Amino acid sequence: MNNPKSAIIIGAGIAGLAAAVRLAVAGYEVTVFEANDGPGGKLSQFGLGAYRFDFGPSLFTMPQYVDELFRLAGEEPTDHFNYARLPEVCHYWWADGTRFSAPGDPEELAKAAATTFGVPEQRVARFMADAARKYELTGRTFLEKPLQKAATWLDLKVAGAMLRIPSLDLFTNMNAVHERDLKHPKLVQLFNRFATYNGSNPYKAPGLLTMIPHFEHHFGAYLPTGGMYDISQSVYELGKRLGVKYRFGQRVEEIAWEGKKVKGVKVGDEVQAADTVVCNMDVWLAYDKLLPTAKKPKRTLNQQKSTSAVIFYWGVAREFPELGVHNIFFSEDYRQEFAELEAGGLADDVTVYVNISSKLVEGDAPAGGENWFVMVNAPAHTGQDWNTLIPELRKRVLTMLQKRLLAPAAAPEKATPTLEEMIVEERIITPPEIERLTGSHQGGLYGTSSNNTMAAFLRHPNFSSQIEGLYFLGGSVHPGGGVPLCLLSAKITAELVVG
Ligand SMILES: Cc1cc2nc3c(=O)[nH]c(=O)nc-3n(C[C@H](O)[C@H](O)[C@H](O)COP(=O)(O)OP(=O)(O)OC[C@H]3O[C@@H](n4cnc5c(N)ncnc54)[C@H](O)[C@@H]3O)c2cc1C
Repeated sequence: MNNPKSAIIIGAGIAGLAAAVRLAVAGYEVTVFEANDGPGGKLSQFGLGAYRFDFGPSLFTMPQYVDELFRLAGEEPTDHFNYARLPEVCHYWWADGTRFSAPGDPEELAKAAATTFGVPEQRVARFMADAARKYELTGRTFLEKPLQKAATWLDLKVAGAMLRIPSLDLFTNMNAVHERDLKHPKLVQLFNRFATYNGSNPYKAPGLLTMIPHFEHHFGAYLPTGGMYDISQSVYELGKRLGVKYRFGQRVEEIAWEGKKVKGVKVGDEVQAADTVVCNMDVWLAYDKLLPTAKKPKRTLNQQKSTSAVIFYWGVAREFPELGVHNIFFSEDYRQEFAELEAGGLADDVTVYVNISSKLVEGDAPAGGENWFVMVNAPAHTGQDWNTLIPELRKRVLTMLQKRLLAPAAAPEKATPTLEEMIVEERIITPPEIERLTGSHQGGLYGTSSNNTMAAFLRHPNFSSQIEGLYFLGGSVHPGGGVPLCLLSAKITAELVVG
């Protein structure tokens, strides 16, 4: 007979790692099966020559959700995990030469926006206050609780939020709210970008999501001392100290169940028995591969996928003092860019995100160089010919960055190297590779998109209503993608398991 307090976790993404810690603290014997050779999933790292790169996430918000795991285990977080708040969150660049460096503090943000864009300071201040109000009314409750449990809906706070629905901009889209409240086209574009934080389209995602900048500009944007990988590495090490067993390089082939109860997982030819199975694999693929005979919740699984990305990891042999940790080079027609994404392609004129962790993380690049993580939003992988698309995209990205960062040399005889010539190391990741390396359906960065009003309610719950003892967590289920929400999904799930 199994130990009734034993649990198997499928996948060592950040949600699986965090749930392992929570269950171990609750006295469970926990084993994590991970198909890759190490922990982290999308939150992993790799090296290229003398440069270090985080594979996926670069923006870190809500660090308190990580700290909480150490405290639960009776440890002091700063003994194991440290981070610094970024005073300037992001540097924005437009084709007409406008630049804006966004301060982390909301009041400073309003002041800086007034100076750069010539809008009344109050306009941005009011917008940020409204984002805070939306978060306080809905975010806290809806993100921290299972939506499919009656107790959540009986909560008084939820009832209060329901009464205020007309003021939450649920039935209009983010772009419309930004045009109404911010008016200035560059500010509209800047704030529209926050839709991409969960793989969505600002021209479709509900206006309620205009609360997203509140995370970055109120709670703050951070960078762990050793880069983003510190998050998964430190939570993994914490799990090890608590006795969690990790089985790397072991792919779960099937979830074993009988009648209505989970029995364990099949790895190779063997069934590893457990009464509790927690699945951190993308939920679409889990039903497809691990639960072939289970009834599929089709409406939930067929929600529009989050966008994916093409990432160029470049070891650059030069320093660019005008760039910060996070930099955005906007396209000239954002609406067109999203229309192309919706149609499954890439726009001619794309927005380019450049993250440079070596600005703050010592050792991420050799002296005089920088590690550039250059990301372009891409459609979910539905069979596009990436071998043809990528070389063209690379050319367009290089041309744009060259033009905006390195004006042509004034004297041709003193020709400086081009950006392309400064790239000494390179790796390129496409949507199908994101799928292959992290087990994410169609290479989606954040599971499903939030491109309709009901999306939040249609995400798969953190438990199976068909198979007792089976739970789901991570970016493809409630409350959604992104590191902070994955950490919350681990919390919700562990609470459901422990009861
Ligand atoms: C390029 C990119 C940029 C991003 N930027 C940000 C950002 O700036 N900020 C942010 O907060 N978020 C960002 N995200 C999103 C964030 O990375 C994810 O939401 C989060 O890391 C997902 O964690 P997860 O727990 O769902 O697991 P995942 O990281 O998806 O890991 C799942 C793990 O399960 C394993 N697995 C799958 N199937 C099996 C199986 N059958 N058996 C065993 N193991 C299996 C996989 O190998 C993988 O390790 C980004 C993502 C990407 C890809």
